[in-house]
Amino acid sequence: MAQIYDSIIIGAGPCGMRIALELKKKNASFLLLDPGTPGGKVNVAPRVDNYPGFTKIPGPDLAFALFERLNQAEIEITPEEVLELKKENDHFAIKTDRDTYYSKTAVIASGTKDRKLGLENEDKLFGHGLTYCALCDGHFFKDQDVIVIGGGNAALKEAIHMLHVSKKVYLIHRRNEFRGSNKLVDELKEAPNAEILTPYIPYRLIGEEKVEGIEIENRETGERRIIKLQGIIPAVGQIPNTQFVQIEGVLNEYKTVPVNRSMETSCPGLFAGGDVLPRDIRQIYLAEHDGIVISKSILTLLGKE
Ligand SMILES: Cc1cc2nc3c(=O)[nH]c(=O)nc-3n(C[C@H](O)[C@H](O)[C@H](O)COP(=O)(O)OP(=O)(O)OC[C@H]3O[C@@H](n4cnc5c(N)ncnc54)[C@H](O)[C@@H]3O)c2cc1C
Repeated sequence: MAQIYDSIIIGAGPCGMRIALELKKKNASFLLLDPGTPGGKVNVAPRVDNYPGFTKIPGPDLAFALFERLNQAEIEITPEEVLELKKENDHFAIKTDRDTYYSKTAVIASGTKDRKLGLENEDKLFGHGLTYCALCDGHFFKDQDVIVIGGGNAALKEAIHMLHVSKKVYLIHRRNEFRGSNKLVDELKEAPNAEILTPYIPYRLIGEEKVEGIEIENRETGERRIIKLQGIIPAVGQIPNTQFVQIEGVLNEYKTVPVNRSMETSCPGLFAGGDVLPRDIRQIYLAEHDGIVISKSILTLLGKE
């Protein structure tokens, strides 16, 4: 008979890590599944300036600090990707790329992945001048010209990060107003090597073997212009990592996961937190907050609180 864990946590970002730490304190049995780098999206945050205890910290340093907390608590991450999450009788059945595991409760803390522009050649140029992560690949564009596409905080921070690497940084956004913070917009406006263009959308990626430029279109006038550059960094939003969820009614039309005040989904015993929730603000402290609420809910359900 296979082991039945108290809980299985899908994703070792700040939400999943926090749950693991809390469950460990109460001796609950659990698995923390994640094939990626511990810390999730924190690893690609160029600069975190809203995490308690730090004025400013590079994302990878914070991710490492979070990982260290797991190590100190002797929590291991099982490096497997979840392919299916189902309910079988009273238990959750979680199939990964290596095995199938069973649990009394489960948590979807699998975050999001980058939304693509949807333009021709996007996949072909990925890794050849087109990247979704300025922090990971920005150094390839040293002293070159790059464009960041998007209007949220992530786009603004990616552009600011590139100011210190590239010769010239363009930022285009489809609206005249930015969703991201005014402080970041001002920082870019004041930079001598930045140029903000609104309301522009990307129209065509130029280059066959590698990025050679981009054609952009003004949404108000229809005017098109070609900018020659070497790097394209789209930051146009996120898609939830929930494709493995095979329990009816758990996902909404946007494939995010609605929850109640206990962070429980429409399926009893199944919880969700962090960036997979339908919310406008996606932040590390929110993911950790969700993790605390989820662990309390799970421990209460298991009678271990
Ligand atoms: C460029 C950028 C800058 C940011 N800057 C800041 C900032 O300054 N301050 C701030 O508070 N927030 C910032 N954020 C947001 C913050 O990183 C996220 O809100 C936070 O990491 C969400 O945590 P999470 O645990 O919900 O998900 P994630 O951190 O996304 O972690 C999810 C984990 O789930 C794993 N996973 C996915 N699918 C599966 C699967 N099928 N099976 C198993 N595991 C899976 C992934 O590998 C990942 O490790 C930034 C984000 C980006 C992209």
